[in-house]
Amino acid sequence: MRFTNDILIILLATVLFAGYAMIKGNLRSSEVFTATAYCSCVKCCNKNPSDRRYGITATGTVAQWGTVAVDRNVIKLESRLRIEGFPNTTFRAEDVGEAIKGNHIDIWFPSHEEALNFGIKKMAVYSY
Ligand SMILES: [Zn+2]
Repeated sequence: MRFTNDILIILLATVLFAGYAMIKGNLRSSEVFTATAYCSCVKCCNKNPSDRRYGITATGTVAQWGTVAVDRNVIKLESRLRIEGFPNTTFRAEDVGEAIKGNHIDIWFPSHEEALNFGIKKMAVYSY
């Protein structure tokens, strides 16, 4: 029975650790997200080029290819992300948005046209 108790303790520790990792806001495996796209323009970000915070993300970085807006309750800010369909890009959860809630990511593009062309997709996302 001693052996069984050890196994139970290990299982309990594993469950607690997994729960902690989830609370910390990192996905433990890939999940399907709704992916949309945005750029730094006033339509997407409500900031004009003359605004001090124009093109600056919630984490203070300059928005660039690889920048992704997330729900910080789902994906911890500053996590790195892998997104289905972009095998050569390591994305970063650097931004947030009022409309970005739950399993929804918003991928930054350099122009509004490119963001519009991206449209809305369902994509597997893995954060680490
Ligand atoms: Zn835009």
